[in-house]
Amino acid sequence: MIWSVEKPKNEMERLIDYTPGSSERDELINELNTIKGEVIEVPLIINGEKIKTGEIKEVHCPHDHDKVLARVHLAGKDELNMAIESALNSHGCWSELNWYHRAAVFRKAADLLAGPRRFRNIAAIMMNQSKNPYEAEIDLAELVDFWRLNSYYMNFIYKQQPDQIEGEMNRLDWRPLEGFVLAISPFNFYSIAGNLPSAPAIVGNTVIWKPSLNVSFSNFEIMKILMEAGLEEGVINFVPFASEISGLITKHPDLAGLNFTGSYETLVHLWKVINSNIENYRNFPRIVGETGGKDFVFIHKSADIKNAALNIIRGSFGYQGQKCSASSRVYCPESMWGRLEDTLKREVSKIPCGPVDDLRSYMGAVIDEKAFDDITDYIKYAEENEDCTTVLGGKSDSTKGWFIEPTIVKTDDPRGKMMSEEIFGPVVTIYLYDEEEYEETLKLCDQTSPYSLTGSIFSKDSHVTHLAERVLRYSAGNLYINDKPTGAVVGRQPFGGTRHSGTNDKAGYWTNLLRWMNPRSIKETILPAEDWRRKFMVE
Ligand code: NAD
Repeated sequence: MIWSVEKPKNEMERLIDYTPGSSERDELINELNTIKGEVIEVPLIINGEKIKTGEIKEVHCPHDHDKVLARVHLAGKDELNMAIESALNSHGCWSELNWYHRAAVFRKAADLLAGPRRFRNIAAIMMNQSKNPYEAEIDLAELVDFWRLNSYYMNFIYKQQPDQIEGEMNRLDWRPLEGFVLAISPFNFYSIAGNLPSAPAIVGNTVIWKPSLNVSFSNFEIMKILMEAGLEEGVINFVPFASEISGLITKHPDLAGLNFTGSYETLVHLWKVINSNIENYRNFPRIVGETGGKDFVFIHKSADIKNAALNIIRGSFGYQGQKCSASSRVYCPESMWGRLEDTLKREVSKIPCGPVDDLRSYMGAVIDEKAFDDITDYIKYAEENEDCTTVLGGKSDSTKGWFIEPTIVKTDDPRGKMMSEEIFGPVVTIYLYDEEEYEETLKLCDQTSPYSLTGSIFSKDSHVTHLAERVLRYSAGNLYINDKPTGAVVGRQPFGGTRHSGTNDKAGYWTNLLRWMNPRSIKETILPAEDWRRKFMVE
């Protein structure tokens, strides 16, 4: 059947703002209250079956330690083997299903999520990830966009077919990979968690999905929607498990691919495991890994400084700085610091921090105790280090939840720890440069951190913007001009980075789907052969 998918409109354009007095706000509050009043059990889903192992991990709310959101059943070795078997057994049936039927499942899931399941899922993201309603909305909208746009890009790829000449017919059979895909997702984006198993699945792969245990409450909501949308049994197996036993899956001969988003260190560990086992696989496993960032904001003396300041606030403190794309190092001309400092101090001190179910909060808590300790260690380091001055914030409070104030540090050491390491929290470090040394400082920015994920340039002069684009060509996979370095929209700013930031396959774009495909060329010759000899041999 010939059929084309129209390019969908971004859900991002239809965000709900939950203004006081709106019916949406009332519905959201109802869902938040329901979640606060319940503790759900999260089973494994293997081959469509709910499995309870009794090996429990409790999921707590980051802004209220005492609130248990869910009791999650963890897989042991037996369940991992069952999940592998389920994914392998489902491969034939799912991969041979017409692509438009596969697309229909994800289109339906998108419509459920954008429609009747929206408020429950927004509330789940808020309570489990500690996101304010806006951050939860953009996260949910991103998953809707992933699901809808993946159908469109799958169709786009399938249409790519080779040249024909008279006497033969050539086709590309866009097969999925042979074996199963392992999807391992991070805590910070619900949308990424949903997309990591879905992108390989939509093009015909079967998947074992390991969610981040901290957020398996909100991630289970995604699995429920996929099942409600009619996803066939065994196509995505939802399997929370302790990282220590991951070798059973990563070393399996039928591992066809790893779709990973998380920290650089975890990807390196998994990559080494796969490397060391390379002779035991049936295929070379595809590795797609999107990791951390040390994302920059570079201000030129021509910049609109108020615009730069407001974007630093949104880019550094939105979702408590727990975005791989969060701005965490700023290069500011010395002469502009006074104005930048004034605006930052004035505006940042107005940011309300608190439990996100109190809809006055802009910032919530960081995800867990380990994150809290890691981030506060950086703040302590800055306080104790003579190259650094804490300009604003620096306090934290773990009495009720993992709260850390938005913190601004100024440093004289442009290559130091605060300017080069990913902190993954609400801490931004500023380095003042001599505006006569613009190009040299661009080079410094390029060379300071091992990451290369996102970055912003603020300037009103196209020539200097052009120079920055050139010098920083390999410093970021997503570069923004006069905007914050966060907030990529599926289909509009394909997202991903290189160097220590990942394999840059651009989630939600056709380049990513290609990684889960395994094209077979088929040539059919129309006319039968008449002779084996070539013309040069004819007498
Ligand atoms: P993490 O690396 O701690 O964990 C990621 C996932 O890997 C989790 O599900 C975790 O349980 C799992 N994991 C850890 N060790 C494992 C092992 N040995 N075997 C199997 N699974 C294992 O990362 P996180 O704290 O969840 O997420 C934050 C990180 O993710 C940050 O570095 C952030 O920059 C990055 N991130 C990157 C992007 C991107 O698109 N580039 C997007 C979101 C987050």
